[in-house]
Amino acid sequence: MARLTFYGATDGVTGSCYLLQTNQSTIVLECGLVQGNSEEEARNTEEFPFNIQQIDAVVLSHAHLDHSGRLPKLVAEGYKSPVYMTFPSSELLEILYKDAASLQERDTEWENKKRRRAGKKDIVPLFTMTDVEVALTLFDGIPYGKRQQITDDIEICFRDAGHILGSAIVEIFVNEEGTEKKFVFSGDLGNSCAALLRDPESIENADILLMESTYGDRDHRPLDETLNEFEKIITEAAESGGNVLIPSFAVGRTQEIIFYLGKLYQKGKLKQQAVYLDSPMAIAATEVYHRFQNVFSEEDRASLRQSKSGSLHTFLPNLRYSRTTDESIALNRIESGAIIIAGSGMCNGGRIRHHLKHNLWKRNAHVVFVGYQAVGTPGRVLVDGVKNFRLLGEDIAVKASIHTLGGFSAHASQSQLLSWINNFKKPRPRLFLVHGEGNAKEVLKNKLSQQGWTAKIPGYAESIDF
Ligand SMILES: [Zn+2]
Repeated sequence: MARLTFYGATDGVTGSCYLLQTNQSTIVLECGLVQGNSEEEARNTEEFPFNIQQIDAVVLSHAHLDHSGRLPKLVAEGYKSPVYMTFPSSELLEILYKDAASLQERDTEWENKKRRRAGKKDIVPLFTMTDVEVALTLFDGIPYGKRQQITDDIEICFRDAGHILGSAIVEIFVNEEGTEKKFVFSGDLGNSCAALLRDPESIENADILLMESTYGDRDHRPLDETLNEFEKIITEAAESGGNVLIPSFAVGRTQEIIFYLGKLYQKGKLKQQAVYLDSPMAIAATEVYHRFQNVFSEEDRASLRQSKSGSLHTFLPNLRYSRTTDESIALNRIESGAIIIAGSGMCNGGRIRHHLKHNLWKRNAHVVFVGYQAVGTPGRVLVDGVKNFRLLGEDIAVKASIHTLGGFSAHASQSQLLSWINNFKKPRPRLFLVHGEGNAKEVLKNKLSQQGWTAKIPGYAESIDF
């Protein structure tokens, strides 16, 4: 008998973690960070709800930290066995973990200075760069489609989830006394309209299915409308002469935007002199995308072949990398004709803040938001139409045009989730919905029941036997 316990992503979309125990082995599927307000994030410092010494393997579906960000903490607490993922995920995770460790070390140092002055005890970071270095030595990459034995009675196989580079749907085969049970975790399923990546692979059978439900209650705005609007903004900005700022997340959205700008360039519609990617992390992630173009969708690879070498680099030949601080500061002197992509995506850190300071007060500048802006972030304040903005210790008048392009998404919409799940043949798997807010899961559960599916919504620490 095998037992699956839900230790995360049951009350929301983050902190993914599942424990699978069989007669002979114990594996952890996903080891994600809880992301949200400070009260919710305090849960990351809690002890793991299982005995780390008994874990034989960890399996990660993709590099987003809400699925993988607590692994270095697991390692810091003594985990020494393999961690399985796809090859692109392992490269992206190295970038993301190192960034997270240096931020945490810096923030902890800052906090401890204050605490010492207040006569309080020091706190420790969730994990350090040393923990990350050890975690990286445990990584074991597996190609898509290869069935691999990971313990005496468990095999896994990664299928393309099309969500970010390297993202996978995880098939887990449990062999006990001559019978095989198949367990499928959807991971985060990609938006089949999104650029560069393939559509989520269809799976036809399973005994148990865990499916994400982030967009279980809605469909996306059609991507064509969003892209037309994007083109219009870029053209207007070229005519009015101002710079275009695009706050963007380093992994995924940035590379999509580069691809769409490349498409405009190839059509002769990109009049700006240069596109600056001003983020060391986004540059590193773009290089990983460049190295793994073999997993892009056939359609987008055909588009890339319109350019000289058929690569992401030559598709947008006026793309410039700003790696150093000096190169970033030099961009402040550009009055017009530049497109600057910089992090962070919600403007609560990173180099974008400096570019906002130098451009927001100019009437001909444009700021284009291409991702979700959470309540309370500077990005959200700008999207909500504030006229004066406090930034880096200065008051800035907002005269630039602020645009919100709501149609980009790395997640499958409700219709896409339904179409993916209906690839499963009868007998249908036992279905559990995870990774969604309460309403999204309820709406999806009802939709599924209209189509003959019975979905369960598990609670935290609930177990199922199979
Ligand atoms: Zn994700």
